[in-house]
Amino acid sequence: MTANHTKNHKNETACKVTDEICLPDTNLPRVVIIGGGFAGLALVEKLKHKEVQVVLFDKNNFHQFQPLFYQVATSALEPDSIVFPFRKQINGYKNVLFRLAEVEEIQPSTNTIITNKGSVHYDYLVLATGTTTNFFGMDNVESHSLGMKDIRDSLNIRHMMLQNLEQAAITCDDKEQDALTNFVIVGGGPAGVEMAGALAEFCKYILPKDYPEYPSSIMNIYLIEALDELLNTMSDKASSKTLKYLEDLNVKILLNEAVSNYDGLQVTTKRGRTILAKNLIWTAGVKGQFPKGIDNKHVVKGNRLKTDSYLMVEGYKNIFAIGDIAAIITEETPKGHPQVAQTAIQQGKWLGNSLLKIIKNEAPKPFEYKDKGSLATVGKRKAVADLGNFKFAGYFAWFLWSVVHLLSISGFKNRLMVGFNWAISYFTYEKSNRLIIRNFKPKSLVNETEE
Ligand SMILES: Cc1cc2nc3c(=O)[nH]c(=O)nc-3n(C[C@H](O)[C@H](O)[C@H](O)COP(=O)(O)OP(=O)(O)OC[C@H]3O[C@@H](n4cnc5c(N)ncnc54)[C@H](O)[C@@H]3O)c2cc1C
Repeated sequence: MTANHTKNHKNETACKVTDEICLPDTNLPRVVIIGGGFAGLALVEKLKHKEVQVVLFDKNNFHQFQPLFYQVATSALEPDSIVFPFRKQINGYKNVLFRLAEVEEIQPSTNTIITNKGSVHYDYLVLATGTTTNFFGMDNVESHSLGMKDIRDSLNIRHMMLQNLEQAAITCDDKEQDALTNFVIVGGGPAGVEMAGALAEFCKYILPKDYPEYPSSIMNIYLIEALDELLNTMSDKASSKTLKYLEDLNVKILLNEAVSNYDGLQVTTKRGRTILAKNLIWTAGVKGQFPKGIDNKHVVKGNRLKTDSYLMVEGYKNIFAIGDIAAIITEETPKGHPQVAQTAIQQGKWLGNSLLKIIKNEAPKPFEYKDKGSLATVGKRKAVADLGNFKFAGYFAWFLWSVVHLLSISGFKNRLMVGFNWAISYFTYEKSNRLIIRNFKPKSLVNETEE
């Protein structure tokens, strides 16, 4: 490929011929950020209007608010309430550019990244590429189940659920009807717990109205967790309260059970238990994702990149990692920091300050994580909170959860839409987005058709 960028565009001078992706030429240091999640966007915010050229790459043209994926999946919110276009986010940031492209390779020896649209030179490179669903090598499970790591996954779950409930009304076969109305969620962390609670509320409040032909007992929700408690990163109080809340909502909780196989119809656990289900939602693990080109010896458990305390990837002088993909391994943090939004935001902001110092040849400070606590909701008016020494559950925790999440969503209109939807649903228990507007096909069937 040869670069052919001869025209001057509005606000952009001629591109460097070394870059195949058109970018304005600049004398400023170029910071390339891969990934506009919580970490990448926090970094952009720190570097806006500063003496650097920032180029943000993402394979999507929008930021995704992952903590509310389960609400899209269970018809409570529309996807556009929790995704936000990058170009709108960077409106008015004269030194920040967005390019829609998937980065495929990093070439540290030439300070270049290769994307599916061309290549770009960088002075500083920041990997903020997050994680993807980890099925722990179980191909059968992966090809028949759905993860929840992308807004498209949430929509797939919603369509799978609504289509299967409709199909259950059509079939006269009892076994088939059971499979269509049984839901298995794997993983008792916050994502699994929140999904189970929301599905159970769907079953309690929507099913009897929308599907009068079924008894509400027809929909069984199983939550499978390999450890001996739910929310194991939170306090014992939070774990036990969550268990009780979910049991009150009739969720069947299986602790100390690990899924070993799923063929699209039957879930099998390592201890030999089987459950008939055509709905399996996998929230049991994530693994880091990043383009090739980084030396494998700097990759640690969970496919994360080992960085020093300054968020610099080990072995490189101008490549940094932040958010879920980064693991600062020290004596205090032998497994790295928790893979949550707070870590990502704090690291993005921290690296912004550090980069500005590094560019001025000043010494940056090592990253310090401030644990602001954890919240998880189990359904309406029920949540658990661990805030330092304060551990509480119930209505106030749920209220706090709602406020924190509402304020964290990008975009005023999105906050308004989510707040409005929540207010309606608070009083009516209504989940209004129950339309089947595309035909969902399980991954295994899509592959079969293509072959
Ligand atoms: C269902 C769910 C619920 C969660 N709930 C909570 C919660 O309640 N509280 C909490 O604190 N945390 C929660 N988390 C975790 C939180 O969302 C993550 O810790 C956070 O998103 C990490 O931010 P990040 O910026 O590192 O990565 P991400 O937010 O995952 O962003 C990564 C970005 O990189 C882009 N990207 C990846 N690879 C490439 C590539 N090769 N080229 C171009 N672009 C690329 C992606 O498109 C994405 O935009 C939840 C996560 C999930 C999945």
